[in-house]
Amino acid sequence: MIKKEIIQWLASVNTRALLDKADKTRKKYCGNKIFIRGLIEFSNVCVRNCKFCGLRRDNKRIKRYRLQPEEILKISGRLVRKGIKTIVLQSGDDFYYTRRIFCELIKSIKDRFPDIAITLSLGERPLSEYKAFREYGADRYLLKHETINEKFYSSLCPGQSLKKRIKILEYLKKIGFQVGVGNIVGLPGQTLDDLAEDIIFFKDFKPDMLSVGPFLPQRQTPFFKNSVPDIKLVLKCIALSRIVSRESHMPVTTSLASLSIDKGIVLGLKAGCNVIMVNFTPYKQRKHYRIYDNKIKVDIKIVGDMLKKAKRKICLERGDSFKFAVLGILAGVYIGFGASLFTLEGSDTVKYVGAGIVKILVGAVVFC
Ligand code: SF4
Repeated sequence: MIKKEIIQWLASVNTRALLDKADKTRKKYCGNKIFIRGLIEFSNVCVRNCKFCGLRRDNKRIKRYRLQPEEILKISGRLVRKGIKTIVLQSGDDFYYTRRIFCELIKSIKDRFPDIAITLSLGERPLSEYKAFREYGADRYLLKHETINEKFYSSLCPGQSLKKRIKILEYLKKIGFQVGVGNIVGLPGQTLDDLAEDIIFFKDFKPDMLSVGPFLPQRQTPFFKNSVPDIKLVLKCIALSRIVSRESHMPVTTSLASLSIDKGIVLGLKAGCNVIMVNFTPYKQRKHYRIYDNKIKVDIKIVGDMLKKAKRKICLERGDSFKFAVLGILAGVYIGFGASLFTLEGSDTVKYVGAGIVKILVGAVVFC
């Protein structure tokens, strides 16, 4: 899909055909399962000052909190007992948590729950820290790019650079993280051209995960007077992102669920999403994680009800990147044949083919 076509869809009033196409794409590449992730918002402290975000450092009216590693571990246990196999650890850019604290935390979670996937969403850190987190066992990293328009990004996030953020994303990919990106739809000053560029970025970057959510104002930010976008525009962005990215995991964002409390989750699922994040942040702190106002509570019961409405099935598997599964099979095939060539002598064709097939299967299982 080229940019002109994307802009035409974004401007079109006829959403039905687009949403149907996205739904079919989701079904073809991701199936019918809805993967559940357990979210722990462990700190709302942030050193940055993004204009759209209620966690920005200039917001002096928010009550800041930090959960200690033992508490995060305890909540992780609760979430695992519910059968959830992905823990998402999210915070503002908070350097109180040092590299050592995170590495020990990742290790403790992996020691106690070896088959659980850990997704980190900690913002921008030195590259050496990402490497350490990966080595200690973290599996995935979410870093929303917010908007791919460099000038617009600098105006939204003072003192930050989009180039640096993209470099980080590429580095995360290189060191073996499953990587998530994401944008915000309806930011004050954003154009359809900006949104189309975001969608093209999704197509080119090929993220393992991507999130598309609406802008919602927060009263202690410079954008508190701006209005929310039309939900149809958000759904069209989700649908186009699904069509171009095909097999990326796409969550229904809590912001979409909050934009339309009764229908947001179902509409997101019908527009191409295949993941839901269930919030496990303790109630006492949850109300202070206020990136935007009027945030809906997404718990396991609400999710169950919504999935019934959307006629989709809950899936409690780890739900690793679909791309990793394909690469695993290819690597398995490659190594299987490589090993066969290396270990077998002579021209015993039957023996060669038989051993090759066994090794392909073993290789595929190991890498998946
Ligand atoms: S968007 Fe992220 S980096 Fe920016 S102020 Fe909010 S939490 Fe901090």
